[in-house]
Amino acid sequence: MSQLRYCQGPRCHTYDTKDRKKGPKDNKRNETRRRSSFYYLDGNCCSMQCMYDWFNVYGSRALDHFGRTTQPKVLTQDNAWRKRYDWNRDGNDRHYVYNHLTEEQRPITEQQYDNENTITHDGRLAI
Ligand SMILES: [Zn+2]
Repeated sequence: MSQLRYCQGPRCHTYDTKDRKKGPKDNKRNETRRRSSFYYLDGNCCSMQCMYDWFNVYGSRALDHFGRTTQPKVLTQDNAWRKRYDWNRDGNDRHYVYNHLTEEQRPITEQQYDNENTITHDGRLAI
């Protein structure tokens, strides 16, 4: 059983919906949503609105904390690799890595296709 967590949207409790209402008739209040899972902000917010609210309050500080992009990132043939496969009706799917600048293709195994380390997070071939 997964643990219940609160939506991280700083204004979640201010949105007036039935599921946020708590308390007895004479002491009604709205509370932050609590769920076992959320779809937004990498599983931390209950709605797109709460995600935007979070970013409006904390986004600039998060960028300063983790480091802003201060120089252009560059795509070259060294980091233009993507995994692809061609689905085949007879079950012989063709897995390969594809360089979308040079259009070079290199075959890989299904295991390499499923392995998230075959291509680095920034698009470099690691095999
Ligand atoms: Zn929320």
